[in-house]
Amino acid sequence: MKCVRCRKKGVIHLKRHNAAFCQECFLYYYKNQVKKNIKRHRMFDKEDKVLVVISGGKDSMALWHILASEGYNVTGMYINLGIGQYSDKSQQVVESFAQKNGLELIVKDIKKEYGLDIYKLSKLLKRSTCSVCGSIKRYLFNKVAYDGGFSAVATGHNLDDEAATLLGNVLSWEEGYLARQSPVLESTHPKLVKKVKPLYTLTERENLFYVLINKIEFLHDECPHAVGARSILYKEVLNRLEEESPGTKQRFITSFLEKGRRHFQDAQEKLELRECSICGQVTTTEVCSFCRFVKLSNQNTEN
Ligand code: SF4
Ligand code: ZN
Repeated sequence: MKCVRCRKKGVIHLKRHNAAFCQECFLYYYKNQVKKNIKRHRMFDKEDKVLVVISGGKDSMALWHILASEGYNVTGMYINLGIGQYSDKSQQVVESFAQKNGLELIVKDIKKEYGLDIYKLSKLLKRSTCSVCGSIKRYLFNKVAYDGGFSAVATGHNLDDEAATLLGNVLSWEEGYLARQSPVLESTHPKLVKKVKPLYTLTERENLFYVLINKIEFLHDECPHAVGARSILYKEVLNRLEEESPGTKQRFITSFLEKGRRHFQDAQEKLELRECSICGQVTTTEVCSFCRFVKLSNQNTEN
């Protein structure tokens, strides 16, 4: 199959666009998608400071690389969550990439800096590891972004992630989540930084191709806690649909954003936001969950 743009030999076929690209034209397509998404949803511009959430996986590494190459003012942020070898390996990958490419990187280690252990907390609070981990990540990314004067926090969520999340939310009619599902989550409080997803129209496969072409090192392993997650099943189901009918995932997301989402706007929870009495970050309770985690961990070490 020939490249649709230059007619040279195509090396990647994107069925949903009924198009093949050579390596060079794929990079042109990829860059245009990212730039279009940023512009269409007014995510940020070249003057803004953007904090990029980095896990070390292909999606976040691709995002960091493309934004830096396009001249955006980006800083990577990596959190060591204390997940055994997975955390050690991913930190190495991220630090070595930042060093080789002269990129700014902020690293937080929840055990060393705050004495937090997601496994202990999950047992004490009878909450899943992912739920504890998710709360810690959301808190730290926002806090670092707010304290550092960043205009946006960018994540590497791709089309497969977004379609799987949407399917999960539709299956149980999670109206509140459906109201919030968007490539841009605007700030609802002066201390909450806007969240953006510049890769939401690109698939996992396209991100993989991007990192391979650019020889970007990334961690191939998934977090061990992701195994068996419901979202993986939804991705498999959507892949099956995509095989039979290319373009399903993209139609699902774009038509939801254009036609479906507005019907859920009233379901947006009007939570009363306040500032945590310990750290001053935004919460709905007297003390935020992060400060409660820190207190609980310290009490537990003392006992
Ligand atoms: Fe945290 Fe791993 Fe769960 Fe993701 S899959 S929320 S990184 S524990
Ligand atoms: Zn707090």
